[in-house]
Amino acid sequence: MDSTATRRRVTIFLISVLIPAAVLTGLAIQLYRQQQKLIEQELEKQHDAHTAEQIHSVYRESNLRFAFYGCAVVLALSVTLFCRYVVWQDYRRDSELADLRSQFVSHVSHELRTPLTSIQMFAETLALGRVQDPEKQRGYLETIARESERLARLVDQVLAFSKIEQGRSDYRLQLTPLTPILEAASRAIEPSLAQQGFTLRRIYSGCAPTVRADADALEQAVLNLLINAMKYSNDSRIIELHMRQSGSDAIVEVIDQGIGVPAEYRERIFEKFFRVPAADGADTSGVGLGLTLVQHIAAAHGGRVEVRGNLPAGSVFSLILPMEQQA
Ligand code: ADP
Repeated sequence: MDSTATRRRVTIFLISVLIPAAVLTGLAIQLYRQQQKLIEQELEKQHDAHTAEQIHSVYRESNLRFAFYGCAVVLALSVTLFCRYVVWQDYRRDSELADLRSQFVSHVSHELRTPLTSIQMFAETLALGRVQDPEKQRGYLETIARESERLARLVDQVLAFSKIEQGRSDYRLQLTPLTPILEAASRAIEPSLAQQGFTLRRIYSGCAPTVRADADALEQAVLNLLINAMKYSNDSRIIELHMRQSGSDAIVEVIDQGIGVPAEYRERIFEKFFRVPAADGADTSGVGLGLTLVQHIAAAHGGRVEVRGNLPAGSVFSLILPMEQQA
């Protein structure tokens, strides 16, 4: 939000509470004085007829009445202030979300534009027969395939997110062994990993757990974590995929040695559209939906996703899922 606009709104907000408060207080003081004067005049007229005790009680009654009115005014003002504060907070949240949405639209457009441009450029170069070297042709075709895959992934993410927003996402949960899901996600990302020189270490410990899961959705969640590990790895080329058990939970961990997530952003990265402000050397492509989807999928499976720092560098994303006991 623009800071001048914010300052103006805060000023209007304060004025709209302070002016009525000052006017009401002034009126109350004025009324109080007038009433005291009236009481004094009345008492002077009938001085002899009243004892000191009666005079005192008239004053006390009048003070009490004013104290009561004063409290009522303060209460009314506090309620007004509180309601205005709540409305103000709502307004701020809506306005932040509107900002994020508009950033999201421009991000998505940019994310669609970039692969489309390179697909178009390489396809046209090949179609015009300008490249004769078969090795170069293969390189161009690989780029086209990679960029198309990136496009498809982005479109899938936006569609999945829009389903969630409309409450239309449905998961078909079935008893499923977890290992094949991890293997499928690893296979899906293998070509991209190989192309960029990554090594994926898979370390599965304990006996193969069974979970109640929608295999496609869970594969998508693991894939999103692996894609992020790749995107935010900086110069490191090692990613680990762990699976282990802890009590009645199966834990899938995706560990990278990349740029890491600063502690102050570790909760926010799961919010829709949120992206950590670009760090040097990081691949900044993305629209801030991958982890929102992972969190949604984890919750739909009765589980959760967590992040912590890896030592000496990088992050550990843990997908924690309740295990099913097989009969
Ligand atoms: P996207 O990657 O499209 O921006 P995500 O929702 O997947 O969206 O991630 C949100 C943000 O969390 C990213 O923009 C990035 O800043 C941070 N992040 C996610 N995964 C990692 C990771 N493995 N290492 C460092 N930062 C990460």
